[in-house]
Amino acid sequence: MINQAMLALGQEPSSIRELFAYGLARKAEIGEDKVFDFSIGNPSVPSPAKVGETLTSVAASPAQGVHGYSPAAGLESVRSAIAASLNRRFGTNYTARNLYMTCGAAGALAIAIKALSEPDDEIIVNTPFFPEYRVWIEASGDTLVPVPMRTSDFQLDIDALRAAINKHTKAVIINSPNNPVGVVYSEQTLQALAQLLTESAEQYGHPIFIIADEPYREIVYADVTVPWVPSFYKDTIVCYSWSKSLSLPGERIGYALVPDQVSNFDQLYAALCGAGRALGFVCAPVIFQHVAAACVDEPADVAAYARNREALTAIMDECGYEYIQPQGAFYLWVRALEPDARAFAETAKRHELLLVPSDSFGVEGWVRLGYCVAESVIRNAAPAFKALKQDYE
Ligand code: PLP
Repeated sequence: MINQAMLALGQEPSSIRELFAYGLARKAEIGEDKVFDFSIGNPSVPSPAKVGETLTSVAASPAQGVHGYSPAAGLESVRSAIAASLNRRFGTNYTARNLYMTCGAAGALAIAIKALSEPDDEIIVNTPFFPEYRVWIEASGDTLVPVPMRTSDFQLDIDALRAAINKHTKAVIINSPNNPVGVVYSEQTLQALAQLLTESAEQYGHPIFIIADEPYREIVYADVTVPWVPSFYKDTIVCYSWSKSLSLPGERIGYALVPDQVSNFDQLYAALCGAGRALGFVCAPVIFQHVAAACVDEPADVAAYARNREALTAIMDECGYEYIQPQGAFYLWVRALEPDARAFAETAKRHELLLVPSDSFGVEGWVRLGYCVAESVIRNAAPAFKALKQDYE
């Protein structure tokens, strides 16, 4: 009577959102400041002033232009402004024709996967991985193939990827800066991946794409830089959003970028438009298309996340937790104090600490702490982290 796969998805809400909802209810029950919610990637840093200024000026323009449909792929002027910004930063030659505006990075990923999918396709993800990849991959009829990142430094494990690639492999999704481990893939890693995929594409007689998921591109610490993936490998689709860099996750604005150099550019871009149409991701929110174009060169305010990273890792060090030092994004990947991460997260809940168990990310034994929270949440959580550690001593 109804689609069973969709029913299953709807009945099994994401564990991150479930924990977030629990946190809201718990805060209403015992007080906002008594719950230490590290569950979701909702930026606490306010959007830059220019976002508000642009909104005000766009809202004052004639209603028809502001609220009307844009072309399915987005306004040409907006796509040109984004292309020009990328060209300034990465020395590329993109134009509006390389961009498709979407509802967040999620929209870009869903249509990129759908555009590439053919029967029996496999898509490789590197574990731990953002849980929604499974939803988009399986909804497109593809098979998700998990490949663990190297545990020594969480860079890509090229040998393991080589072993996983076969004639069905259509794409590899990479996410850098990474949610949940905070790693930024190095140039050396990307070079090795590009070489592997070039050789494999030749061996199997069809392109193998990189889908570069980059909503955290601007959120990096110290002197870390994020290499531009298409300059390492031509068959790359970049999925981006302003959800994190401009703190606009609720506004659903981002893009998919397809460089001219990809194999069969015209067909791939057309398939992307077709996937947008099939999934209903046409004409991304127009007011925020304007905002994105106006704010395309606004720097992300990383200082608050850098302070939070310091404060949280200091607490972890003091208590003796094992964690991965993040180079970017705003998550801390912490070793659970028992093998069952769900059980550990439940114990943490008793101290009002909301931590996401690693099972959602395809691995066991860790938890993710989103530190895009107010600094006071981290400072006030210190005794709870201490008490949680003591539970296991
Ligand atoms: N990819 C990763 C790794 C994410 O962490 C997120 C959101 O948290 C997304 C994609 C989706 O981003 P958006 O909110 O722009 O759709």
